[in-house]
Amino acid sequence: MPDLTRTRKVVAIVDALETFEGEGFLVHRPFPTPSLAMVDPFLLLDEMGPVELRPGEAKGAPDHPHRGFETVTYVLEGEFEHEDSAGNRGSIGTGDVQWMTAGAGVVHSEMPARSLQETGGRVHGVQLWVNLPAAQKMVSPRYQDLRAAELPVARGDGFTLTVIAGDVLGVSGPGDTYVPIVYAHARVDAHRELEIPLPSDTNAVVYVLGGSAELGPDAVQAGRAQLAVFDPGEAPLGARAGDRGLDAIILAGRPLREPVVRYGPFVMNTKEQIVEAFDDFREGRMGAIAREGETVGDHPEA
Ligand code: MN
Repeated sequence: MPDLTRTRKVVAIVDALETFEGEGFLVHRPFPTPSLAMVDPFLLLDEMGPVELRPGEAKGAPDHPHRGFETVTYVLEGEFEHEDSAGNRGSIGTGDVQWMTAGAGVVHSEMPARSLQETGGRVHGVQLWVNLPAAQKMVSPRYQDLRAAELPVARGDGFTLTVIAGDVLGVSGPGDTYVPIVYAHARVDAHRELEIPLPSDTNAVVYVLGGSAELGPDAVQAGRAQLAVFDPGEAPLGARAGDRGLDAIILAGRPLREPVVRYGPFVMNTKEQIVEAFDDFREGRMGAIAREGETVGDHPEA
């Protein structure tokens, strides 16, 4: 059994705020919040739902821009459809990950699948924003569609880890990242322990989707919709699952330590760059989503 006395200390437990995004869908957001602005290099973590939708209730985030970072969407339940100004279009279902590097700028739409609109159903997912280094904020946009079946699973004694990015317990996630990060989904059986070595000098967090855990050498408690922030350093990350097990997202990344100026969908290094992003979006330089029966440029505001 792992010895949690030599694992990373928990420095904060943050309650996710309930807020509304896009057309008004519920998210649980541990950061950014008044008590936690970011966890460098991570800018935002949103848990969408879980929510049981009735027909016609599904809401999404129609056409909006991003610049300067990456959005990583992990679907736990349900199906989402996306389209963007570069002509990409597709859907992601349960267990799939869509990794979008917005870079210099993209306009996209993120909506529940039409079938969810028509018949209702459960929706649950996680969206993470990963910052881009100053030198790479204006890279060309790109997508990585990582299907559930291609996400490797590390199996330990009483736990599994689905690895989306980074190296964990000898398993490499397929996510190709600008900033080296670890992104894993942990499921730990009741009263079992998990210990994962992480690269030193990484900021690490555990976000609890379900169940509960005692974390670190002081056995700090965290439950549903709470985020534990760990001390960086050499030590591994350790958790002991509670009576109902633990279902959690684990993130670790080396901090960029660069200035962050954010405004809505843009995250840059200076105020001037934010103004420039607004101008570029307003002037249509981030493009627009072409749809049947419409011509790009029909909408002066886009
Ligand atoms: Mn978006």
